[in-house]
Amino acid sequence: MFKHHDALKDAKLCPLWHDPDIMPEPQPSLGKDEKCELLIVGGGFTGLWAAVQAKERAPDADIILIEQTFVGDGASGRNGGFLGTTITHGETNTEAQFPGEKEKIEALGKQNITELLETLTRYGIDARYEATGETSLALSPQVAEEMYEEFLEAREAGEPVTWYDQNAIRKQVNSALFYAGLKHQNGLSGIVDPARICWGLKDVLLNRLGVRIFEGTRMIKVKPVGKTGMQAICEGGIIHSDKVLLATNAYTSSIARIRNSVIPVWDYQIATEPLTDEQLDKINWGKPGSRHTLSDHTNMFHYFRMTRDNRITWGGGGAVRYYFNRGIDRELMDAPARHEQLATEFFDMFPQLEGEVKFTHRWGGIIATSTRFCVVPGVMHNGRLAWAVGYTGHGVSASRFGARIAIELLGYQPSEVIKMQLVTSRALPWPPEPLRWMAVKMTQLALIRADKNGGKRGLWLKFLDALGLGFTC
Ligand SMILES: Cc1cc2nc3c(=O)[nH]c(=O)nc-3n(C[C@H](O)[C@H](O)[C@H](O)COP(=O)(O)OP(=O)(O)OC[C@H]3O[C@@H](n4cnc5c(N)ncnc54)[C@H](O)[C@@H]3O)c2cc1C
Repeated sequence: MFKHHDALKDAKLCPLWHDPDIMPEPQPSLGKDEKCELLIVGGGFTGLWAAVQAKERAPDADIILIEQTFVGDGASGRNGGFLGTTITHGETNTEAQFPGEKEKIEALGKQNITELLETLTRYGIDARYEATGETSLALSPQVAEEMYEEFLEAREAGEPVTWYDQNAIRKQVNSALFYAGLKHQNGLSGIVDPARICWGLKDVLLNRLGVRIFEGTRMIKVKPVGKTGMQAICEGGIIHSDKVLLATNAYTSSIARIRNSVIPVWDYQIATEPLTDEQLDKINWGKPGSRHTLSDHTNMFHYFRMTRDNRITWGGGGAVRYYFNRGIDRELMDAPARHEQLATEFFDMFPQLEGEVKFTHRWGGIIATSTRFCVVPGVMHNGRLAWAVGYTGHGVSASRFGARIAIELLGYQPSEVIKMQLVTSRALPWPPEPLRWMAVKMTQLALIRADKNGGKRGLWLKFLDALGLGFTC
């Protein structure tokens, strides 16, 4: 169990991205009652992008953003930094959840990532973006065959894809576990340092767009007041506003519709020290032309990538957990057994690095998982309270789109987007405990079994598939 203890023993319990050299000073907490036009609750991507886009659409809007700890402390500052074009968790999920809207959703996804990147450039935010594309890895001959079919279809459809057979993929990234690789390269998707986006946007909001930010400020309750106002009771004071946007993602919400549509799923990660040239040579990865951003094509998939200074970050796999009754305590970040499991799985894939490479960081973060595996937006109180939550592991770019939906629902230049099924259809609620825990556990075990079976889905997964609830990565 503790086979790789030595490699992990000095790892700091802290996201790699929370670099103290660039982490900004926290803004003061709320100390008295305040008034504004729009109150945004949550200082992750959704909240930050909502403030930016609301200001772009209504430059005079008076906006306050509050965050219970510090900006970038949620999933937005803890993720893998995979920046994809999808806003609805990939093609298969899009077709299953929103029939007839695939083309429109794909076009919106491309528009969203393009605008995201343009905004970063316009404000001079260096997010360490690399347009690496995304490479899927087959870990068995059966999966390699399926992936080859996928490659042929994609090539036929004119998509920019590259196929690597067993020899070719091992020349790109050397692991004896790889049978093939399929790279999707659309010139947009790639990797970023996510905390740099959070803190870059925070700076823009404070110093260029005139948004007030209070950190260390938790909202306790929100309610409508009269026919036009909202009141948010927060630690430190009451905020009176015309509108409220909840960008609280996986965190427990006082609004039942939000609470029932997402569950918090913990995902853990580890990061190595920068690899030397000799170590890179052993795995063939990271050289010009082979800076792939990788995930294995399994249900319980690992996602792994390089950083600018040639570290590897590694997450996902069997370490993903839902804790009974929505456990979100901060102590759950410190999960030595989960981190050990990740380290073991890392060296199973790259035994050449065993005894050579150490991990410097380990951390965890909470993914808001919805039953439709993508954003769940909503609005109530006559368009005065809106939200966008539940991106399920694909939120780095999709959260900017979720933010767009939420501000449009609040009346900031609404477009055709809010008439789409993505917005008008309700996501199925999660069942109450203990059913929820049992369903998640059964699904996780079934996914692990399917992976061991070369991807063959058992009865439980087929049943979920029939309900449109089968998890597809
Ligand atoms: C380990 C991990 C890896 C991931 N990897 C990827 C990836 O590689 N690619 C990808 O696309 N997606 C990934 N994701 C998902 C992605 O990070 C999220 O979908 C996205 O960051 C969600 O942004 P958000 O702003 O909605 O939520 P968050 O970043 O979680 O922000 C919500 C914020 O609200 C605050 N808050 C909550 N309640 C209150 C309250 N009552 N008062 C005040 N503040 C409150 C929280 O403190 C938090 O800061 C990953 C997630 C995790 C956890």
